[in-house]
Amino acid sequence: MSEVSVTTCLALCQQVRELEGTEQARALDALTLKLELLEFDQSRQIDARRVMDQLLQPIITMDVAGYLTSWNQGAQRLFGYTPQEAIGQHILLLYADDGTDGVTDIAEFFLDNGSALVEVRRRKKSGEIFRADLSLTVLRDGDNDVQGFVVHLSEIGKRLSSEEKLRMHASIIENSDQGILITDGDERIVSVNAAFSRITGYAMHEALGQTTDLLRSGAHDADFRSQVRAALNGNGPWQGEIIGKRKNGELFPQSVSISVVRNDEGVITHAFSIFSDISVLRASEERMQRLVNYDSLTGLPNRTLFNQLVGQALSTARRNNDCCVVLAMDLNRFSAIKDTLGNEVADELLRQVSQRWRLVLRDEDVLARVGGAEFVAALPSIQKREHSGIVSQKLLAALELPFEIESNRVHLEASIGISVFPEDGADTATLLRFSDVAVKRLRADGEPGFLFYSPEMNLRAKEQWQLEGELRHALVAGELLLHYQPKVSLRSGRIVGAEALIRWQHPGHGMISPGRFIPVAEETGLILDIGNWVLEEACRQIRAWMDSGIVMPPIAVNLSARQFDRQLPARLQAVLERHGVPADRLKLEITESLLVRGTESVIHIMNELVARGLALAMDDFGTGYSSLANLKRFPISTLKIDRAFVIGVPGDQNDCAIARAIVTMGLQLRQEIVAEGIETTEQMDFLRNLGCDQLQGFLFSPGVIAEKFECMVRDGVRLKLD
Ligand code: C2E
Ligand code: MG
Ligand code: MG
Repeated sequence: MSEVSVTTCLALCQQVRELEGTEQARALDALTLKLELLEFDQSRQIDARRVMDQLLQPIITMDVAGYLTSWNQGAQRLFGYTPQEAIGQHILLLYADDGTDGVTDIAEFFLDNGSALVEVRRRKKSGEIFRADLSLTVLRDGDNDVQGFVVHLSEIGKRLSSEEKLRMHASIIENSDQGILITDGDERIVSVNAAFSRITGYAMHEALGQTTDLLRSGAHDADFRSQVRAALNGNGPWQGEIIGKRKNGELFPQSVSISVVRNDEGVITHAFSIFSDISVLRASEERMQRLVNYDSLTGLPNRTLFNQLVGQALSTARRNNDCCVVLAMDLNRFSAIKDTLGNEVADELLRQVSQRWRLVLRDEDVLARVGGAEFVAALPSIQKREHSGIVSQKLLAALELPFEIESNRVHLEASIGISVFPEDGADTATLLRFSDVAVKRLRADGEPGFLFYSPEMNLRAKEQWQLEGELRHALVAGELLLHYQPKVSLRSGRIVGAEALIRWQHPGHGMISPGRFIPVAEETGLILDIGNWVLEEACRQIRAWMDSGIVMPPIAVNLSARQFDRQLPARLQAVLERHGVPADRLKLEITESLLVRGTESVIHIMNELVARGLALAMDDFGTGYSSLANLKRFPISTLKIDRAFVIGVPGDQNDCAIARAIVTMGLQLRQEIVAEGIETTEQMDFLRNLGCDQLQGFLFSPGVIAEKFECMVRDGVRLKLD
């Protein structure tokens, strides 16, 4: 069977298939399949044909008589005919006009010119006519006889008929997610789309014939309505936001644009508005607004909104010659509570504090949260500055009842700094700054309560700010150094240790005492960097002594309570390892304030330090408020009696009694006892007789530079005991 006869058979089959459903048709289907297989087999190019079939580019083959012999997917996409419908048909099926570019002409044209492009008009199954570029490739058999043609077609850009355009526009309107409403010259609604119904709740039949009053919310004034009316009357397009009303009565903001349609004579025939529901947008804008202006934890205004509200309150106060008060409120020890009880409890505490304080204040007072445990309040309608003291007392009293959170009972105290308009400052920023100066001052003294700002405070605060800046610089500029004050045994008189004491060699002011700069560093948090520097420097020095083969006693460093966090043991371990210093070469002096904080977590950290081989000494013992009995809960190996009690011995009876109690206690707990700040032999003798183990004080030596201390150890300098 030749290829042509197979395709002719296929075409026949196609025609008979019109008799759908009959026995013959089913038999023919089977026959078609066989024939198709045969056809593929004949050409022996099954793979090539499959590839061709898959191509999206239309490729058609026909025999010399113009009957279609193959039809790929691309051809089906373009014309809409399936292969079964097309194969076997004459190519004329695809022509737009009868015979204007007849098959023979084209075939001849190509036979004469080889491969070339011609522009032709073709018709799809749907009847749509389109233009296409066409090229033919001649297929020849082994004898070079023409067997058929491969037709390549590509559609040239489509142009829409006006009918198509209308159809398309209608579909765009219908499927738009913006609501569309069209009114006629009588302002009656003549068309709405699906989005209109979705947004307003009115079905099409409910809207048609109505006026746009259907959606009127009554939210706009006459002026606004006349602007919209002007647009509807053809005074240019209008765009804006309108509050509309849904069928269920709910008001909703919509973004609208209104235009009109005119006929050829310029008369307005229709007006249309396109609108979208922006209530979701509005809601998220409001959420944004809340985020920008309110503290998410407590729901109180944040600093931004506070500034804004106080700015307004000050303008009013200025006009009425009133005064206005700004309070800065800090919760004391809050970071320690947070460390101990965790973030969740801390957050809940802040929420409860803000609720209690909000209840104390009047409605017109502004309360805001501006930082971790920092709140501010503004009292705009206060008559006398003294009255703000009463309000402060109430705020402090509001914290008196303990907070009960998840089986924790937490006692809180606050410090409040007060600044007054107009005496202390004329603007929000100044008032905030000065109330902050006052609260910082109060906190530096470690006292809860309230304090009015005074200019002297500012002077001190300024000095502190300056000091802080310089101290930061000192840290990197290498202006800090360590002195070593020997500790001697009261039994042998030998040097048995030393305390590393920080010194600041200021280029302008000479040596600055740690008594001056350590409190500033504590207040600002700079103590963490300074503390790390001290540890590094002490370990570096210990290592240097080890390397030079000198046997030196252990060195004690002072730790600030702020350094005492969960990471401290790991940090210390890392420093020791970095310098290759065994843990027993280093001692840690901690202050009694840590014991007052006295929580399980502090004990836990202490135990961990001891487990790593670091001995702990309790510095300045007796100055804090921890009870002696409490002491045994802590893994402390050394007690240092503060100089304050040493000064008075042996003359002052009280000091003697205290010193005796401390020593007795220490001995019972088997702790080593060091007396600090001994300047006279009388003091030494008294404390030695009590049973003190060591002495540290000017009587033997002040703090000295590392080289000097090294010489003292090497030379075996001793304390004369008799
Ligand atoms: P502290 O730890 O109690 O140190 C003892 C202080 O007493 C030192 O003062 C020392 O020079 C002084 N002192 C010792 N013997 C006598 C004496 O016989 N008479 C008198 N009048 N004073 C004596 P310094 O060096 O001024 O240090 C003061 C405080 O600064 C220290 O008290 C300590 O709390 C703190 N400090 C010093 N270095 C550091 C440090 O590296 N880190 C931390 N966090 N604090 C440090
Ligand atoms: Mg100390
Ligand atoms: Mg001390």
